[in-house]
Amino acid sequence: MSTLLNETSTFVEPAASPLLLLGQGRDLASERGVECTGALPAASDPDLVERARAARAALGDRAFVLGHHYQRDEVIDFADVTGDSFKLAQRAAARPEAEFVIFCGVHFMAESADILTTDAQQVVLPDMAAGCSMADMAEIGQVEEAWAVLEDAGIAGDTVPVTYMNSTAAIKAFTGRHGGTVCTSSNAQVALRWAFDKVGGVDGTGKVLFMPDQHLGRNTAVLQLGMSLDDCVVFDPRKPGGGLTAQELRDARMILWRGHCSVHGRFSQRNVDDVRAKVPGVNVLVHPECKHEVVTAADMVGSTEYIIKALEAAEPGSSWAIGTELNLVRRVARAHPDKQVHYLDSTVCFCSTMNRIDLPHLVWAMESLVEGRVVNRIVVDADDAHWARVALDQMLALPGI
Ligand code: SF4
Repeated sequence: MSTLLNETSTFVEPAASPLLLLGQGRDLASERGVECTGALPAASDPDLVERARAARAALGDRAFVLGHHYQRDEVIDFADVTGDSFKLAQRAAARPEAEFVIFCGVHFMAESADILTTDAQQVVLPDMAAGCSMADMAEIGQVEEAWAVLEDAGIAGDTVPVTYMNSTAAIKAFTGRHGGTVCTSSNAQVALRWAFDKVGGVDGTGKVLFMPDQHLGRNTAVLQLGMSLDDCVVFDPRKPGGGLTAQELRDARMILWRGHCSVHGRFSQRNVDDVRAKVPGVNVLVHPECKHEVVTAADMVGSTEYIIKALEAAEPGSSWAIGTELNLVRRVARAHPDKQVHYLDSTVCFCSTMNRIDLPHLVWAMESLVEGRVVNRIVVDADDAHWARVALDQMLALPGI
């Protein structure tokens, strides 16, 4: 152990660091998991790409590697398919012959893949610390307490829970048990309309409890369902009663969970104003996880798949400022050298948890599988898997999906 030199020049042992080396060790209080076994290759290993190629070739059709749009290029290079979280889980389910599904994404995505794949398939997340800060903002105990608050206010029977794909399997299961549905950023409008129709329609008095992304819920309700901002309240799980009175809950139509994406939540209206001032004629295209002020100031709003298609359809020479995760924007810019693609805010960083999956972790996971060791397997318990599947199937049964 190294030592520190203090002001009086005596040597003192340092206090144990609360920090863990990246990818090594575990802190169950703050992370989900299981440590790498110490055999994690060094990022500086000059043979890393070759090791990845060799392990991938050795696994062959036994493995199916999924790469979320927000993953690093070094990981995407080894993905058999790229896409958003739901598309990837569906693609894994369509490959039942693949014994191992290596999910290069974050924890809730691997859970969804486990729910949708067969029992014979094993889903592996190369780094268990790849969580999602938004999904972690709605913990199942908090949601059950919130539902009890709605029951006390006399409105639970008139409320349909809807959860965004970016939530834990336990929250999806809660939604299934209570007659709700899952949604993605592409079908949130249809999902919300379906939910309101269950309790008297959009113009009635029924309510939706929307988790965990307040921004997607608010943007969809106001911009696509024609509700007003006054119809929305924010339920803060850290405050007694969600920080709301029973009357405020009764008067609301959209009860928004206090959660957000730490990447998309950083864009501001000022970013939009600045890019418009600097780039005349720029098209501002943002993800619906952005704040309401950003979405209303933008020209276009849509999911990651929508953003990719919008750039494919754009006129050569056109200018774009995109508000979503940086890995995706950089790849879109590279794919369209005939268009000017700007990042909406040059200070916004990558999704730090998505970036936990790097080539060393992917190599470690694949080499372990080649050696017959299944590491970092994601398994959703059977009851939660059943009810989460009910909620996911409900989403698939929505009109037009
Ligand atoms: S970009 Fe946001 S929603 Fe997506 S994984 Fe990262 S924190 Fe979660």
